[in-house]
Amino acid sequence: MKASVLDGLAIASEIRAEAASTALTLIAKGTTPALAVVLIGDNPASASYVGSKVKACAECGIKSIKKEADISISEAKLINIINDLNKDSSVHGILVQLPLPDHIDENRVIEAIHPDKDVDGFHPVNAGRLVAGIDCLAPCTPAGIPELLSRSGYEISGKHAVIIGRSNIVGKPIMNLLIQKGKNANCTVTCCHSGTPNLSTYTKQADILIAAIGVAEFVTRDMVKPGALVVDVGINRVNDDSRERGYRLVGDVDFDSVSKIAEAISPVPGGVGPMTVAMLMKNTVAAATKLDN
Ligand code: NAD
Repeated sequence: MKASVLDGLAIASEIRAEAASTALTLIAKGTTPALAVVLIGDNPASASYVGSKVKACAECGIKSIKKEADISISEAKLINIINDLNKDSSVHGILVQLPLPDHIDENRVIEAIHPDKDVDGFHPVNAGRLVAGIDCLAPCTPAGIPELLSRSGYEISGKHAVIIGRSNIVGKPIMNLLIQKGKNANCTVTCCHSGTPNLSTYTKQADILIAAIGVAEFVTRDMVKPGALVVDVGINRVNDDSRERGYRLVGDVDFDSVSKIAEAISPVPGGVGPMTVAMLMKNTVAAATKLDN
């Protein structure tokens, strides 16, 4: 068996086109959806993520406002920037690129963002709404996963989803999305983590296996049930002298071996990654639509 590849690039482009169409409707009514992206310091990976978000905004007809500050900025000053963006009615989404420097408390910064402008979906109010099954801005990477599966033609309702990873930005929100009663969810969910003994006992029961660990090619063929749907969230750099930049990106799943037994698998790159940016565009136009009413 050879797994079909979940084409995140193609599905992300579908979602971006839908966001662009919503943006056009808003613009016709006099509201240009706008996303403020706050970048602290000069971390190249953060700058590259911000660059791809700004580019996606331009393609979707969303205005982007880039706020940059030196790595030495104080927490109070950063929160002032956020407060100004909260008050600015022409700004609909606010995203602070993580990670932040060590002297700044990430939680306090996230809590400073108005929940209705929290397009990353990390604010505790949105996290709580997600748990309670109330309409909210859900975190982009997790929200992209049911979209990726359902738009690839897979029914997920009633399936056993096993997640590896319990972070606040990936593992826990995926768990809370998939367990909800409703469309694109309704799964039986098991969440595994670094404290789970005999991990493969659980992963081998998964109809849908989601890896969000941060360890290159951690999930091997022997850990996967034949015919499973495998979603690889991981983005890891491994040294590769054959590449000009000296590394290549791999996921948390050993693609070559697992793709021999899975029904479908998401590649890295080209799977979950592009979906994340597309879902950010979707959240931004959703926030603008709500704030416009
Ligand atoms: P994290 O470090 O916060 O969490 C990793 C999780 O893996 C932890 O909850 C931990 O309990 C679990 N874990 C670690 N070792 C384990 C083991 N041996 N057995 C079982 N569980 C184990 O990472 P994160 O922020 O959740 O990100 C996970 C991965 O997803 C990273 O590679 C990250 O780069 C990637 N990521 C990708 C996107 C995207 O857009 N594609 C977005 C966010 C994160």
